Amino acid sequence: MKKINIAIDGPSGVGKSTISNFISKKYGLKFINTGSFYRAVAYYFYEKYNKNLELIANEQFVLDNWKIEYISLDENGNVLLQNKNVSDKLRMDEISWWASYVSKYKIIRKQIVDFLQAYAAKNKGIIMDGRDTTSVVLKDAELKIFLWASPEIRAKRRLKQNKELGYSSDYEQLLNEIKKRDFQDMNREHDPLYKTEDSVLIDSTDLTFEQVTEKVSSLIDERVKDE
Ligand code: C5P
Repeated sequence: MKKINIAIDGPSGVGKSTISNFISKKYGLKFINTGSFYRAVAYYFYEKYNKNLELIANEQFVLDNWKIEYISLDENGNVLLQNKNVSDKLRMDEISWWASYVSKYKIIRKQIVDFLQAYAAKNKGIIMDGRDTTSVVLKDAELKIFLWASPEIRAKRRLKQNKELGYSSDYEQLLNEIKKRDFQDMNREHDPLYKTEDSVLIDSTDLTFEQVTEKVSSLIDERVKDE
């Protein structure tokens, strides 16, 4: 099968990574979760400065103490921070919030975008998810998707996931955090999240995981046929 590149953008908690991971295995594509890069920056400060994430609010401090060379990717597309796989440390709520904060900084964005584009130039057959993969990072992807779901349904899904993982959480608080992060991601000055004209909108509010992956699969099959 001809390898194509796929870009999937959408708000937090919409299921981009779960869908992308599934599709990557089905079609033999390499999956890159671009959010992990912003999360890895936040996690670097968390670990190095004794969990004092407020330091990230100072842009100059971030620029003076961070180097993109701290990041690399392993052969499975996992982000390594100073050669350590930190994937399981990146999902904490605090890290999510500060990753979104870090992602407002133009220089940090440029470093990450350059890294991802250099990677894409060498590796055809990738699926990337994030906020700017359709508009900036993989502008020439053969398939671009904007995955959406209402904040309420995303908060409900998150509540259910947390319950399954044994964490207690509060629906109103989750909803509030989701809305705050959406606002920050969609209204920032540099590369905000939006649906590009050439992206296919999939509103998953009333769809199951299987229905979404079926839609994505049929879009891929069409593109592969056209190639
Ligand atoms: O996708 P995820 O929720 O893991 O991303 C964490 C944060 O990183 C997002 O809230 C967003 O602010 C930022 N991000 C970004 N551009 C991307 C991917 C993520 O700004 N391509």
